[in-house]
Amino acid sequence: VAAEDARVGFGELRMEGVTRRFGTSLALDRIDLEIKGGEFLALLGPSGCGKSTALNCLAGLLPLSEGAIRLDGERIDGLPPERRGFGMVFQNYALFPHLSVRKNVAFGLSVRRTGKAEIAKRVDEALRLVELTEHAHKLPGQLSGGQQQRVAIARAVVLRPRLVLMDEPLSNLDAKLRVQMRTEIRRMHQDLGLTTVYVTHDQEEALALADRVVVLRAGRIEQEGTPEEVYTYPASTYIAGFMGYRNLLPMPVAAREGGRITLADRGLRLTGVPQQEDIPDGAAVAAVRPEDFRVAGETADPVNALRVRVDVSEFHGREVAAEGVTDGGHVIHFRLPERVAPGSRVELTVPVERVLVFSGTAEATGP
Ligand code: ATP
Repeated sequence: VAAEDARVGFGELRMEGVTRRFGTSLALDRIDLEIKGGEFLALLGPSGCGKSTALNCLAGLLPLSEGAIRLDGERIDGLPPERRGFGMVFQNYALFPHLSVRKNVAFGLSVRRTGKAEIAKRVDEALRLVELTEHAHKLPGQLSGGQQQRVAIARAVVLRPRLVLMDEPLSNLDAKLRVQMRTEIRRMHQDLGLTTVYVTHDQEEALALADRVVVLRAGRIEQEGTPEEVYTYPASTYIAGFMGYRNLLPMPVAAREGGRITLADRGLRLTGVPQQEDIPDGAAVAAVRPEDFRVAGETADPVNALRVRVDVSEFHGREVAAEGVTDGGHVIHFRLPERVAPGSRVELTVPVERVLVFSGTAEATGP
């Protein structure tokens, strides 16, 4: 693919029944996914769910076991990586240590025999974009981790790829830099409109960056939607756990009234909980975010009060995160206005509108 061709965007990229096996293990199991030109898509899931495999299949680094990848209708899964016109940014940025920042960024264009003037213009532009103009003469070893990461990004975008594939590009950075770089990646996407597929196990990163989040589980798509949709209406306890519903309390259905249900288990009782969908009798899970529990008195709802013995309370600056146990032995994660001595008893309530109910039992969940 000539550099000029790679400049052309696309309407849609489709993965159709994409399957990838390693021996007898199924890393990707019939993935159907559409990526629209210009969108920022995050592939989210815990370690081993198949994110990197999916990205490597898109990149052409791994052949498919079954299925097809089509770019605007044309099959591309037989093409080698360099003929796809995609750019890649990985967590180990693999810069050339003996080449300056400028030469690192220019490398791909030189290989393509782009003209000198054109190279200079595009490298300047890419360096400006990642705010490294002043560091252009330095060697990678003279840069911070975040700056090196930006070189890696500049090196990918300078080729004007029609698709950028990023695999956990921020995972080697410290927490502060990670948040900064996240904003820069988002801004760059807004400025350039590059179609991006971004792999991460960090739900916050996926929510912050993506137009659309695809959650993978054991090689299959478990849910896809906008960050708001996935965050607000997780499709399973697996995803709820990922999206901050730290409390996944097994509580069977005990009663029904006017479309709402009562859940009860070992002294814990939630009355008048709305159902997102019909929950059959039997096993169910109440999902509650820690920040949705209130210390009783603030929003008195004596019906749904629970008494908890506090085991741990940690000061987190803006809030105090606490873990406690009910008399019936349920471990509860919640927030407190201030730290309390271990063993203290508090009464909590939860507005039932904030409780999500799933039928069945809780599934193994993400971090
Ligand atoms: P991580 O975040 O840890 O990189 P991931 O979600 O990217 O995880 P993959 O690396 O895609 O997961 O792996 C998916 C599954 O395929 C895992 O069970 C993994 O062990 C297996 N797998 C991946 N690559 C290979 C390989 N080269 N040989 C054998 N098995 C592999």
